[in-house]
Amino acid sequence: MLLSTKDLSFEYPGSAEMVFPDLDCGSGETHLILGPSGSGKTTLLHLLGGLLKPKNGSVKVNDIDISRLSGGQVDKFRGQHIGLVFQQPHFVASINVEENLLLAQKLAGQPTSTSKIKELLDQLGIVDKLKKKTSELSAGEKQRLSIARALINRPAVILADEPTSALDDTNCKNVIKLLENLAAQNGSALIVVTHDRRLMDYFPNKTLLN
Ligand code: ADP
Ligand code: MG
Repeated sequence: MLLSTKDLSFEYPGSAEMVFPDLDCGSGETHLILGPSGSGKTTLLHLLGGLLKPKNGSVKVNDIDISRLSGGQVDKFRGQHIGLVFQQPHFVASINVEENLLLAQKLAGQPTSTSKIKELLDQLGIVDKLKKKTSELSAGEKQRLSIARALINRPAVILADEPTSALDDTNCKNVIKLLENLAAQNGSALIVVTHDRRLMDYFPNKTLLN
């Protein structure tokens, strides 16, 4: 199994413990995690990406328990194997879209490639924004740039937090299909967490949080 969790729980200081159902996602598989606001979706995604450490349980990626890695090790592991689409993406404001993606390639130790960047932005329908500052993008365009940044290094695991919340129905469908296609092309595991019930029909594997 590319990604699997067991007995995962987390507790913010002073709050009740959250316990999460076990997850298994293989290479080329997709998984939807649905739940209302406050049900712990972002927390779970951050545990899967090694941004938070669990109270109990394990998060295994390629059989490596990332919850046992040190801070430096987990950052390196994430850079090489995990692509995160954040609910609230932050970009470097002083440089343009293309430069933000070149930076993502450099930070992962990958060769920089403008042609790969253009191809991906074209698939996402924002290649005309290549030279725009990220502050000039709409919410939906930022969401798609966030997806581009997560996918540019072809990670084994793609974790997406509400990737469609700022998108209309047409772009919602396009973005999900694109995420699925890219995950399938690369043999990546794709995990999407959302409250967006429009996504129900696109994912055969679903877990509900409540
Ligand atoms: P969702 O993404 O499903 O809306 P979250 O994972 O963001 O849910 O939050 C789950 C619960 O944890 C909520 O009750 C939220 O208030 C709480 N929470 C989230 N982040 C923090 C934090 N940094 N400190 C304390 N509590 C938090
Ligand atoms: Mg959230």
